[in-house]
Amino acid sequence: MLIARTLPDLRAALTGDIGFVPTMGALHEGHLALIAAAKRAGGKVAASIFVNPKQFGPNEDFSRYPRTEASDLEKLAAAGCHVVWLPDVATMYPDDAATMITLEGPALRWEGAVRPGHFAGVATVVAKLFGQVRPTRAYFGEKDFQQVQVIRRMVADLLLPVEVIAIPTVRETDGLALSSRNRFLSAEDRAKAPALFAALQAAATSIRGGADITETLAKACHYLMNSGLVPDYFSLVDAGSLEPLQAFTHPARILAAAKLGPVRLLDNIAV
Ligand code: AMP
Repeated sequence: MLIARTLPDLRAALTGDIGFVPTMGALHEGHLALIAAAKRAGGKVAASIFVNPKQFGPNEDFSRYPRTEASDLEKLAAAGCHVVWLPDVATMYPDDAATMITLEGPALRWEGAVRPGHFAGVATVVAKLFGQVRPTRAYFGEKDFQQVQVIRRMVADLLLPVEVIAIPTVRETDGLALSSRNRFLSAEDRAKAPALFAALQAAATSIRGGADITETLAKACHYLMNSGLVPDYFSLVDAGSLEPLQAFTHPARILAAAKLGPVRLLDNIAV
C-alpha cells in the first residue's frame, strides 16, 4: 500500500480506473465495507483520511474527533487498499483559497438545519478530493443518507465525472449503526443506543402496513424519550429530495437523529 502525503506522490500512484473511499479515519467495519465494495469493482482502490475542519461547527467536536492513523493504515493495508491519501490542512485549504460550495435542495433540512455549514464543508472537501484523486467511482455509506443525496446532487449539478455508489449501513449485532463516535458512549448509554434502530424498524413496519404517519412518528419519538434518547428529528421523507412526506410514496426513507449523552446518533431506514 502506498502512503501519499503530498499531491505529487498521490498523482504518481493514481492512474487508470480508481474506486475511492473518502473518510475521516477512526476506521471501523463500516468504512471497510466501502473498501470491500471498491475492491469488488476492480481497478485500484484509494482511500483518504482527512478530519475536515470545515464540516465541524464552532461548538462541535473537531479537536476531540478520534485520530487513530497507525491502526487505520494497518486496516487499510489488510483490506487490500492500494493508495491512502493523507493530505494536510494547508493542502486542502491554502490561505488564499476563496471557493466554497453552497447547496440547497437535499442539504437544507435535517442535518443541514441542525448543523449550519456542515454540508458546505462536506461538499467542498469531497469536490477537492475528487479533483485530487480523480476517481471513476466513489463509495459512501447509507449510514449518512442525507450526505449521499447531497453528494449525488453536487455531482449531477457540477457534472463531475464520477459515479457515486451507496453502500448499506454496517451494524452491531444489536442494530446500532457503527460510527467512529460510538466510542464516546458510556456503558450505560451504549446499552440504550440500539433503541434508535429499533424505533426505525418499528416505524417502517407500521408505515408499510398503512398506519397513520404522524401518529407513527410521534410514537417513535416517545419511545426514544422513554429509552433515554433525545430525538432531534424522526421524519418520513422522499428518498431523493429528502422533503417530508405527509402520505407514503415510494421510495421513502425515515431519517433520524437523537442525542445520547455526549453523542449524537444518526441513522435511517428504507420504507
Ligand atoms: P466518516 O469517516 O464518518 O466521514 O465516514 C466515511 C464514510 O464511511 C462515509 O461515506 C460514511 O457514510 C461511511 N460510514 C460510516 N459509518 C458507516 C457504517 N456503519 N456503515 C457503512 N458506512 C459507514
